Amino acid sequence: MNPLENLIREMIAENGPMSLETYMTLALAHPVHGYYASKMPFGERGDFITAPEISQMFGELIGLWCVAVWRAMNKPHPFLLVELGPGRGSLMADALRAARIAPDFLGAIDLNLVETSEVLQRSQRGALKDSRVAARWQKTAEELPSGPAIIVANEFFDCLPVRHFVCRADGWHERLVGLDGEERLCFGLAPDAEPGLAAPVEPGQVIEAGHAGARLMTRLAARIAAQGGALLVIDYGYDTPWRGETLQAVKRHRFADPLRDPGEADLTAHVDFCGLVRAARAAGARVHGPVPQGEWLARLGIHERAAKLRRYTGEPQWAAIDSAVLRLAGGGHDSGATNMARLFKALAVTQLGLCPPGFETASP
Ligand code: SAH
Repeated sequence: MNPLENLIREMIAENGPMSLETYMTLALAHPVHGYYASKMPFGERGDFITAPEISQMFGELIGLWCVAVWRAMNKPHPFLLVELGPGRGSLMADALRAARIAPDFLGAIDLNLVETSEVLQRSQRGALKDSRVAARWQKTAEELPSGPAIIVANEFFDCLPVRHFVCRADGWHERLVGLDGEERLCFGLAPDAEPGLAAPVEPGQVIEAGHAGARLMTRLAARIAAQGGALLVIDYGYDTPWRGETLQAVKRHRFADPLRDPGEADLTAHVDFCGLVRAARAAGARVHGPVPQGEWLARLGIHERAAKLRRYTGEPQWAAIDSAVLRLAGGGHDSGATNMARLFKALAVTQLGLCPPGFETASP
C-alpha cells in the first residue's frame, strides 16, 4: 500500500475522519509523498498537459500582457513579477523572452516564484537559466515581499483544496474522509449539520466550497489594492452560480478515483470564479472578466502571433502551430471553440484605474 495512504489511515484512526480540504492538501502538498512533491506531472507522458506546454505563444502573450500592465502602472522600478505554481517554468521563460522588446521592464523585475515542490523548483531554475533575470523562490504567497506586483497564476487555483457539503433534510453536512469496515478510505458525512449555510434544498445536493482559493484571493487583492499591481488568473471553472461537485483525480490523462493511491494522481476542482470575484471586490480591488480563454487570447493577438510564427518556421511546423492555436483559443470568436478555449477563463484583478489588455469590453 502506498505510504501516504498509510499515513492518512493512521491519522484518521487516531483523530477521526478528516475534511476533504485536509485530505486534498496532504495528497497534493505533503512534503515527501504529495503529488507535486514527488512527481513530474506535466507533458504528454505525464498526467496532464497545460497551456504553456502546448505552445510558447501562451507564455509570450502573457509576457507582453505584463509589459502593457507595467506601463499602465507608470513603470514602477523595481516591481515584483510573481508566478504562482510555475510548473516546469515554461510560461515564465517564454514571457521573459517575449519581454526583451522592453529592456526597461526587464531591468525593473524582482522575479519571485511561488512553488512548494523542490523537484519543480529545480525544473524552473533550469528553464529560466538563460532568461537574464535573477529569480528567487517562496513556498507560499504569504512569504512574498511587499511592493507593487504583477502576479500570474495559470492552473494554480484549481489545485487549492475544496470542501464539500451534502444536503440532508436537517441541513448541510460536511463530507469527510474516513475508513470503511475494511479500513479502506471512504467518504462519509459529519454527524452534525453545518451552521450558517443556506436552507436545505433537495437532499443529495452538494455544495463545493473553495474557501482556500477565496482566502488567497482576499489576501492578494487587498495587497494589490493597497500597493498597486495586477493579478491574472487563468483556470478552468465556472463563472455563474452553480451547485454541484467537480473534484477530480487525473492519472496519465485518465480520470481516477480520488480516494485511491493519494499522492499518485492529480487532484483538482473547477475554480469558482464567482467566489473569486466576490472576494477580490470585497478586498477593494477592481475586477475584469472573467472571459473565456479563447476570446482573451484572440484579443491579445494569438492569431496574428501564429501567422508570424508560420512565416519564421518551415512548412513542417505549420500543422503544429495551427493545432496549438486551435487547442488554446478555438476556431474563432464563437465558432467551433474547443474545450480549453471555452472551459478555461481569464480573470484580472487590479489596482483601481487600470484596464489590462484583453478585458476592454468584458467588465462593467
Ligand atoms: N502553471 C503551471 C503548472 C500548473 S500545476 C502550468 O500551467 O504548466 C500547479 C503548480 O502549482 C505546480 O507547480 C505545483 O507544484 C504548484 N502548487 C500546487 N499547490 C501549491 C501551493 N499550495 N503552493 C505553492 N505551489 C503550489
